[in-house]
Amino acid sequence: MKRLMTQLLNLNGVIVEDSRQRDETLILSIRVANKKANCPRCKQTSYRLHQNRFHLVRDLPMGTYEVILRVNRRQFKCEYCKKPFSEILNFVGNRKRFTHRYAQMITEEVIHSDIHNVAKKNGLTDEEVWSMVMAIAEEIMPIPVEKLRRLGIDEISLVKGQGKFIVVWVDLETHKLVGLVPERKQPEIEKAMQKWGEEVLAKIKEEFHQIFEERKDLGTGTLELIDWLKKAEPYYKKSVKTIKRWLAEVVGYFERRTTNGIVEGINNKLKVLKRCGFGFRNFNNFEIRALLYWHFSDIS
Ligand SMILES: [Zn+2]
Repeated sequence: MKRLMTQLLNLNGVIVEDSRQRDETLILSIRVANKKANCPRCKQTSYRLHQNRFHLVRDLPMGTYEVILRVNRRQFKCEYCKKPFSEILNFVGNRKRFTHRYAQMITEEVIHSDIHNVAKKNGLTDEEVWSMVMAIAEEIMPIPVEKLRRLGIDEISLVKGQGKFIVVWVDLETHKLVGLVPERKQPEIEKAMQKWGEEVLAKIKEEFHQIFEERKDLGTGTLELIDWLKKAEPYYKKSVKTIKRWLAEVVGYFERRTTNGIVEGINNKLKVLKRCGFGFRNFNNFEIRALLYWHFSDIS
């Protein structure tokens, strides 16, 4: 039975010692096969068990059963530092009450639905679901921009009729959202771009598309960018030259008055996300939620 349960659990290096059933829940007591752990301070291997520490974590369901793992996160004593330390378990984060793969499953459900419905379906609270989403989001953030070559910019209205806009960055090659800026104002855009660093800015060579849906904003948008360039010049030097070249394209874009299908598609999806739950009340949460939609598949 132990062997079968271990196979069914299918967690690398983990053995099921005992299983109990209570109503629709399976409680599996597990242990890690490995008898040693590495000290986080000196990296030395220790075999000296100091203390057993059990806690419960939620794992993937088995059939119709909800699965709770009784995990022993052992404490070892380091022979060199003479101090105790907790082992690192690759399937459950420190102080987390869910396995990594469970959080991944929940996050995937959230991507195709919304926090509240996923919570209800899985017998979790909204807060629990969100903490799982955050744990998975940590793996994709920050979104890598090293390969960014063609940047598209658009804006989307926060609340209809209030004239408040956020900025949307899009990678025109991968067709993915790169990030959001909470306000369409120079200091905010500046701050967001600074995060990318000089090297990245210098690498974005080919094109720079500033795409504002409303044509009346052409003037404002361009002026803001010119202002920003002046301010940024001492810090970026080379990059600013590159951006100045993009600027010509930006203006050219508006003159041609073409629309960009890629950015438009992303904007439409953002509008859908805005409607399901989070809205824009918490900008950071909304950005995480949006980035997950486009980058969740990057997690191996
Ligand atoms: Zn040590």
